[in-house]
Amino acid sequence: MIGLTKEAIAKFDINPLRLLDIIQKTNCIIVGAIPMKILSGARFESDNFDLLVPASEEATMKIYMKEAFSYQFKEAKPVFGTNRTVKSMHVFLKGDNRVNLWIAAAENAVVPLMLSHSTVVMNYISAWGIFCAYPKLTLAHRSLINHFVGDEQERNGKEAYRRLVGDYKKYAARGISFGIDATKWADISAHTCYASAYCTHSIRSMYDSGVLFIRFPARTRGKDDLYGSIRYDNKHTVVWSLGGSFCGTPGSYHRAFADSKRIYPNYDLQGFQADE
Ligand SMILES: [Zn+2]
Repeated sequence: MIGLTKEAIAKFDINPLRLLDIIQKTNCIIVGAIPMKILSGARFESDNFDLLVPASEEATMKIYMKEAFSYQFKEAKPVFGTNRTVKSMHVFLKGDNRVNLWIAAAENAVVPLMLSHSTVVMNYISAWGIFCAYPKLTLAHRSLINHFVGDEQERNGKEAYRRLVGDYKKYAARGISFGIDATKWADISAHTCYASAYCTHSIRSMYDSGVLFIRFPARTRGKDDLYGSIRYDNKHTVVWSLGGSFCGTPGSYHRAFADSKRIYPNYDLQGFQADE
């Protein structure tokens, strides 16, 4: 798996091991097309390289892009989102290759990812491995829509909504089937609401049994990996819920959320529960 990751990264003329060292130091994650392509096979083209960057690491990552990887800053673009948890996006270029730095508004870069427009993009590569929040859906080329994001984008104006619809069309053209809840698919329709990993009402965590995490074995040793189970940094997890209307009954709904939670020392991650 680390081989596939190296291959996907090397295409952008970036030294993969250097990059993994840098994202370990800065708590950045690789998001977007690269983890999706690795998880889902050749149905996705890696047309962009997207990094989600904690707020305090913005300046450091910009320097790394120039000095470690010889990318030149092109422009800062407005973020049409959603997502007040992302504050800006910076484009870096090297020949035909493009890297987007998405700057999170806070310190945990996984939080904005879990407020994305749909589950098919809720994947990342950290310094420690590859994470997929909805493997039963994503690996079957299925995706739930995050209603909250759709409604926010409608309020954000025509341009934001147009971009969102464009994103959905792009993934649909790549073979992704979209649903508003799990009742869309006959084989998983009869799920347990509030408990199944793919129910939009369940409260999920990065350490629950519904996620897929494929570790990079060579990178999980050492004193920074106290529990042998590190998935992002060694102090925090993220809990989230998609919200939406009651499954099979469109109508009023509750809002999606995502939040960073501390992992306490000696906590048993097998039975991990959110700290309220
Ligand atoms: Zn449900």
